[in-house]
Amino acid sequence: MTLTLTFWGTRGSVPSPGASTAYFGGNTPCLELRTSTNALLILDAGTGIRHLGHSLLERARGKPIVGDILLSHAHWDQIQGLPFFAPLFQEGHEFTIRGAPEALGGIESALRGQMGQTVFPVSFDAYRAQVHFRALSEVERGDGYAIKTHALRHPGGATGYRVTNGNAGAPALVYISDNELGHADGYASAPGWRDALVSFVRDASLLVHDAMYTADEYERHRGWGHSRYVDVVDLALDAGVQRLVLFHHHPERSDTALSEMVAACQQRVREKGARLEVRAAVEGTTLTV
Ligand SMILES: [Zn+2]
Repeated sequence: MTLTLTFWGTRGSVPSPGASTAYFGGNTPCLELRTSTNALLILDAGTGIRHLGHSLLERARGKPIVGDILLSHAHWDQIQGLPFFAPLFQEGHEFTIRGAPEALGGIESALRGQMGQTVFPVSFDAYRAQVHFRALSEVERGDGYAIKTHALRHPGGATGYRVTNGNAGAPALVYISDNELGHADGYASAPGWRDALVSFVRDASLLVHDAMYTADEYERHRGWGHSRYVDVVDLALDAGVQRLVLFHHHPERSDTALSEMVAACQQRVREKGARLEVRAAVEGTTLTV
């Protein structure tokens, strides 16, 4: 076991609390990733980061919290929890906000903008923790981890991550939150984009991927930057993934409907005579790689 992943937010687009979503969760994307050396990497800052903040403070018992916050992109659902991340409002903690080099300027202005006076009472400069912005390298190495990045198909761009403990051949976790696997115009991706994506995901121990739509829904939302679940299963099979976790759940998807979606994915795997473990991300649960 080299990486530990906890889901604090699993829902796409808009928080969706309520009785029908209570099992898989209604908070927007946020994952806590811990290396074997206990380094903290936070993947996206949707509303799930609010609960994570309280948990971090409880676990830290007054000691400084240091971590990186990797933002796949700056659409609302990926950043809207940050103004409610309690450790940022306390001195002594230190966070580095990371993004792809071409995206980091836009990310910083979106984070400051969502705390502008017209839309929010507290400004970004009210944070008491140290906050830095630093671009991710194509291969980023840190305390107990190595991260490779990959540009995704999403309006305005987004970044996927492949994380290992840094040793050659170590099991990999791939996190791809907002990505369109179906055909749509408007992306600058090169013609070989799918082959490149398959190599990026190749042999991952765990793939967490946007699976927002059914086939019918997708036809009404082509070009919106999200995937049909069947395409996600096919990507995982083509890349030889061991475990697939459906993520970025549709805000209108009930727990019952999401369980049916998982069953349909498992059926597709069986029909192809393949082996792949499929589940949907459940808020509050932890998986290891
Ligand atoms: Zn999103």
